[in-house]
Amino acid sequence: MTSAPARRLVLLGSTGSIGTQALDVLHRFPGIARVHGLAVGGSRPELVAEQVLAHRPEHLVVSDVARADEVEAAVQRACRTSGLTAPRIAAGQDAVIDVAGSLGEGDVVLNAITGSVGLLPTLAVLASGARLALANKESLVVGGHLVTEAATPGQILPVDSEHTAIAQALAGVRHDQIDHLVVTASGGPFRGRSREQLAGVTPEQALNHPTWSMGRVITTNSATLVNKALEVIEACFQFDLPEDRVQVVVHPQSIVHSMVTLVDGATIAQASPPDMRHAIGWALAHPEKLPGLATALDFSTAQSWTFEPVDEDTFDAIALARAAHREGGGAMAVYNAANEEAVDAFFAGRLDFLGITALIRAVLEHPERPRAAHADGVAGLLAVESWARETGQALISSRER
Ligand code: NAD
Ligand code: MG
Repeated sequence: MTSAPARRLVLLGSTGSIGTQALDVLHRFPGIARVHGLAVGGSRPELVAEQVLAHRPEHLVVSDVARADEVEAAVQRACRTSGLTAPRIAAGQDAVIDVAGSLGEGDVVLNAITGSVGLLPTLAVLASGARLALANKESLVVGGHLVTEAATPGQILPVDSEHTAIAQALAGVRHDQIDHLVVTASGGPFRGRSREQLAGVTPEQALNHPTWSMGRVITTNSATLVNKALEVIEACFQFDLPEDRVQVVVHPQSIVHSMVTLVDGATIAQASPPDMRHAIGWALAHPEKLPGLATALDFSTAQSWTFEPVDEDTFDAIALARAAHREGGGAMAVYNAANEEAVDAFFAGRLDFLGITALIRAVLEHPERPRAAHADGVAGLLAVESWARETGQALISSRER
C-alpha cells in the first residue's frame, strides 16, 4: 500500500474486545480505511496511548469525563516521546455522538460500544450518511424502528457473527424467498444444566465462555442466553422479519454462524472458525473479500457439528424477549435496561445468576411500566429506559433487605 486510503474510519469503543480486534484487522489490511477518530470509555489509558501511536487518529474522545485527564496525560506523554502531534482530545458523551456523526458517504464508523448508550451514536452515524458497521446490537434492539427508519438500504452492516453470517447467506436471495432464519447459539458455559444447577453460579463461572472471548456484559449475556435473545430481535430489525420467523438452535462448536432457510426448502449456512475478526473485516471491507482474513476450516481432519434445540424451560431469556418485541412500544428498551442493571448487580454480588432474567421479567411485568409511543421518538425511549433502570435498582435493593 503506497498511499493512505481515501476512506476514513471512526471506531467507537476501540479498547474493547471488538475494538482491539478491529484495529488488528486494520493493521493487517491498512487499505480498508485510515483511522480518523477513536472513542473510548477511558478505563485503559496506556492502551489508548498505544492505539494513538499505532493508528494516528486526528480525533480522540473519552466518554467518561472523570477519566479524561488521565487518558490525555498518557496520550500526550506517548506522543511527546515519539515526536508525534497528539490528536485533538474531547471528553463526554456528546463528544462521542459528535465524532460518530463526523464522517459522510464513502466513510465507515464501527460502533463497538457496549450497551444502549450506543443508540445516539448509531443515530448520528446514520444521519451522516457514513456506513455503520454495527457491533452495538443494543442500539438496534432498543431503538429498532428509529434506527431502521433512519438507515438507507444497506447502510448498516452487522458485526455480530450470526448476523454477518445471515447477510452472507442472503447474497443473491430476495426477501420474499426467505422462509425463516436460523440463528445458532453456542449454548454458553451452562448448556445442559437444570435451573437448580444454575442457582449458585458465580460471575467467574459465567465469564468462562466455551468458544468466544468477549467483553464482560456480552459474556454474561451469553451465559443467561440474553445475548441470543437480543440477537433474535437484532435479526428481526436487520432483516425485516417477525420474531416467529427467527429460530434459534444450539450448536456448541460455534462454526456454523447462522443459516437461512428458503421457501424452496434449501438451507444456506455460513461456516468459519469462531473468530470475530472475520465478521469485523467482512463489514469493514464489504463488498470486497479480504484474502486470509480468517483461518479457513480444515476438512482434512474429521469433525462433527451438532445441533440441538434450546432448553427454553431453563433459559427463559429468549421467550421473554420475543414477547417484549411483539408488544413493541419500548418493551425491548425496558428488557435491555433491566438486564444491564441486573448484570452490574450480579458482578457486585447483589443478585444471583437466576436473578438476572427474574429481574428482567419483574421489570417488564411491573404494573406501572410506561409505554413509549412511536411519536415520542428517542426522548420517549430514553424516558422508558431510565424508568426501567430505576425500577430495576429499586427491586434489587428491596430483595437485599
Ligand atoms: P467491551 O466491554 O470489551 O468494550 C466496550 C468498549 O466501549 C470499550 O472500549 C469501552 O471503553 C468503550 N466504551 C464504553 N462506554 C463508552 C461510551 N459511552 N462511549 C464510547 N466508548 C465507550 O465490549 P465488546 O465485547 O467489545 O462488545 C462491544 C459491542 O459489540 C457490544 O454491543 C457487544 O454486544 C457487541 N458484540 C461483541 C462481540 C464480541 O466478540 N466481543 C461479538 C458480537 C457483538
Ligand atoms: Mg453474536
